[in-house]
Amino acid sequence: MTDAKTQIAETGPITVAEYMTLCLLHPRHGYYATRDPFGHAGDFITAPEISQMFGELVGLALAQSWIDQGSPASFTLAEIGPGRGTLMADILRATQNVPGFRGAAKVYLIEASETLRAVQSETLKDKDANWIADVSQLPDAPLWLVANEFFDALPIRQFQRSENGWQERLVHVTASGTLGFGLAQETDFSDLADRLDDTQIGDVVETCSPAQGIVATIGARINEHGGAALVIDYGDWHSLGDTFQAIQSQQPCDPFDSPGLADLTAHVDFEALAQATPCAHSRVTPQGVFLERLGIVQRAQTLAAHLSGEKLENHASAFQRLTHPDEMGTLFKVMALYPHGANPPPGVGV
Ligand code: SAH
Repeated sequence: MTDAKTQIAETGPITVAEYMTLCLLHPRHGYYATRDPFGHAGDFITAPEISQMFGELVGLALAQSWIDQGSPASFTLAEIGPGRGTLMADILRATQNVPGFRGAAKVYLIEASETLRAVQSETLKDKDANWIADVSQLPDAPLWLVANEFFDALPIRQFQRSENGWQERLVHVTASGTLGFGLAQETDFSDLADRLDDTQIGDVVETCSPAQGIVATIGARINEHGGAALVIDYGDWHSLGDTFQAIQSQQPCDPFDSPGLADLTAHVDFEALAQATPCAHSRVTPQGVFLERLGIVQRAQTLAAHLSGEKLENHASAFQRLTHPDEMGTLFKVMALYPHGANPPPGVGV
């Protein structure tokens, strides 16, 4: 998308958040608007695309939480940022024998990209799913929701600590004609007052106000009507430093090299999400621990009994990829949102 550079050259520097939005969601040139980036042939592989076990266990955790809260007769089963729809398909298959669950569930998918909505409706045909663009459009009903690798795609802003305040990092056209980082005027961002204690001059902190708005809405629904949300993503409790990154063809690349052609993400600051939600939240639990608590070892063994040769090898490496500390097991975290006074969904620590 040469347009990003042309636009910045014409209108002046833009924030990292504006750059991410332009590159990811521009209706004609944006990354998610123009392609299906998932899976073995795409730019990255997410957990539900690695193995059916991920969606099965997430589905059963949501169903157990629904039972723990008295099996409400009508509820919203939602996914935000559903990619290809694989996770929701696995959730629905795994829960089809949970008595009453599927009959009570109305399925909602929150998706910004028309291209991916089309892919999802193919994966979920005959599943009676509804699509909405924004969490504010979710029905007033109990809500069980999952977000896998969604929050990392939301636009972040970056601020560099300076002598007397903060300077926002901006994307501009450099003297050599390429895109690069510049710094805005120093200001005293009151929103970052609580970051003065743990930062030094030169440190970068990131904020993601869209993420905070979304968890505030989800948390309010859960508080009011009951339900739970599982937020699964890479990141950690309390962010510090520059985590802005680009991936193309499963390889890290320079975020400024090919605007609109690479996926741009940042690590999720789970503490900021926890502070923004009005409902209760669990601690962050590493994905490997979460899946092991939910029984992935037993599920992997059951599936392995029917496999041999290359299929068995692929299955074993998928298990390894989802759970091993050197792969997704530790980098990815799970945090649950649930009503004050209720039990958290299984798998997470409190
Ligand atoms: N959960 C999927 C894919 C995650 S990729 C999986 O695990 O495979 C991020 C997803 O979020 C994509 O479907 C993308 O189109 C969607 N998305 C990005 N920004 C969004 C926004 N602001 N609102 C709704 N969906 C968004």
